[in-house]
Amino acid sequence: MCGIIGYLGNQDTKNILLNGLKKLEYRGYDSIGIATITASQELSITKTSGKFPTLKKAIVDHPTNNLYGIGHTRWATHGKPSKTNSHPHSDCTQKIAVVHNGIIENYQELREKLTISGHNIVSETDSECIPHIIEDYIAKGHSISQATQLTASRLEGSNAVVVSHITEDPVKLIAFKSGNAGGVVIGYSKNATFVASDITPLIEHTSQFTYLNSGEIAYISENNVEFKSLKTSDVLQKEKVILQVNNKSTQKGTYKHYMLKEIHEQPQSIVNTMKDRLFTAPAKIDLSDCNLDISRLKNIERIILIGMGSSLHAAMVGKIWIEQFTGIPVDIDNASEFRYRNPVINENTLVISVCQSGETADTLGAMEIAKAKKAYQITLTNYLETQSTRLANSYIHLRTGTEIGVASTKTFLSSMAALFILGLFLGNERKTIPNINLNQTILSLNQIPEKLNQLLSQESLYTPLAKTLSKYRNFLILGRGLNYPIGMEGALKLKELSYIHAEGYPAGELKHGPISLIDQNIPIIAIAPQDSLYPKMMTTISEIAARNGNIIVLTTEGNTEIKNFAEHIIYLPEIDELLSPFLTAVPLQLLSYYVGISKGYNVDQPRHLAKSVTVE
Ligand code: GLU
Repeated sequence: MCGIIGYLGNQDTKNILLNGLKKLEYRGYDSIGIATITASQELSITKTSGKFPTLKKAIVDHPTNNLYGIGHTRWATHGKPSKTNSHPHSDCTQKIAVVHNGIIENYQELREKLTISGHNIVSETDSECIPHIIEDYIAKGHSISQATQLTASRLEGSNAVVVSHITEDPVKLIAFKSGNAGGVVIGYSKNATFVASDITPLIEHTSQFTYLNSGEIAYISENNVEFKSLKTSDVLQKEKVILQVNNKSTQKGTYKHYMLKEIHEQPQSIVNTMKDRLFTAPAKIDLSDCNLDISRLKNIERIILIGMGSSLHAAMVGKIWIEQFTGIPVDIDNASEFRYRNPVINENTLVISVCQSGETADTLGAMEIAKAKKAYQITLTNYLETQSTRLANSYIHLRTGTEIGVASTKTFLSSMAALFILGLFLGNERKTIPNINLNQTILSLNQIPEKLNQLLSQESLYTPLAKTLSKYRNFLILGRGLNYPIGMEGALKLKELSYIHAEGYPAGELKHGPISLIDQNIPIIAIAPQDSLYPKMMTTISEIAARNGNIIVLTTEGNTEIKNFAEHIIYLPEIDELLSPFLTAVPLQLLSYYVGISKGYNVDQPRHLAKSVTVE
């Protein structure tokens, strides 16, 4: 879950690494550091607990004129966020520096052996074993390249590692990846080579990249990058891919926070997800960019949707649409549960994974199970060339642009849009779409961006409401049908951004227990657009009112009867009932954002979180 950067080139290494870490901070932000090597063969490590500004202060004494180096922004798994535990880690000779993303599952055993053989291990991390093992192999006469490869074979678990060292050897940086560790990408510019966890810090330098697969190692020297298989040492010919990415999506612009910017980008993100895929008069859904195997999809008897966090909530909404459009039974599963049971899957099962980062460790683990059982797999992701796109048979690219805010917003809406389109596509191919006019549905989908803009134009209403609500410690969010998962997503946003305990419940469940929580101290948000389930929601709302509950209602513009029940009302533009989640999700994002702000929290980097969950 960390961010890694490495650089070998003729520019100021220290600044390149710092600049890269600033861009990678969304991947982890509890401690941070760099290691660089000068022409006079000096290894310097500057690291701190805390975030980028702390490193920026500490870095003033760090030498300049470095030829190459590595940097890391950490999300601790082993050992508290402290200066000693932060990366890069070094060996006893202080010649090797290592940054690591992942968990070394056999680190206790490795650490014990190293300590017995006299190594001075100073941190509590699993990562620090790596430079010491490399040191041992070098002491036995191996080159740094051989020593690193041998070390890789000793590590269990999923690990992405970059090694830098003082050397006369032309190989200055070495990167390897095993298991389902987070990404490792090599970037090439005219006089430099980069290595990073993802392309975000590299797009200002280059558009040429090579992605490392699991089980591969890259040896980076001044004029060359050589790739090998970790297992067989065979040299691999790997492609350079050209990715033109808009630099703007990684900049905050005039917004105070990335999250607010991304909330406002949602109308455009939805357009991007739908672009060239939906047509009207005549109605057509074109998913030719996704390389779907239509003959296989025609034989599908069962669908399983998997994901984690917001992606799981999008999948829960998608389940309802896909089941309705295809008539195929659809199950939903949390990927971290799915991967550790023995799910019933065969080649006529379609597994759809929602994985915006393409790197989520549990989702990848679940996809491997599905692959072994020969399911057909489609993954929804916001990044091309990821592990999830490599594991799946086909993928739907969300095309939202980079999302930096740790709490998902635009990727959540776009994941729902992609699932809706996929459901329509499957239903249309199988001729199972019931009683809906496809042309009209596509026209309604096209209206979402405009309706989102209407909702966003009322942003100023949220500041006073958030201020009032920020004093409560618990919330319930109730919905039915498509809006039950939206309640769960809203509760997740409140937890993430404002550290308030919130639960999303199906409204019908209230009477089965949670109703006993009702008093004036637990605001209840009811998602109640005036759709076919509205009368049922009204029953629940009046039951809460009868018990003197504190109710906030999301309902359709023009609903006046609700005034007798609700303390606060948030109005939503009218929309086709099937599409209401696209609108109901947004007020809950804004509310959580402003509650977090009014409590003075860092909404872009909530405590203990990181954007891509690349460890279990
Ligand atoms: N397991 C390592 C640590 O705790 C790496 C964590 C990370 O990926 O940031 O330091």
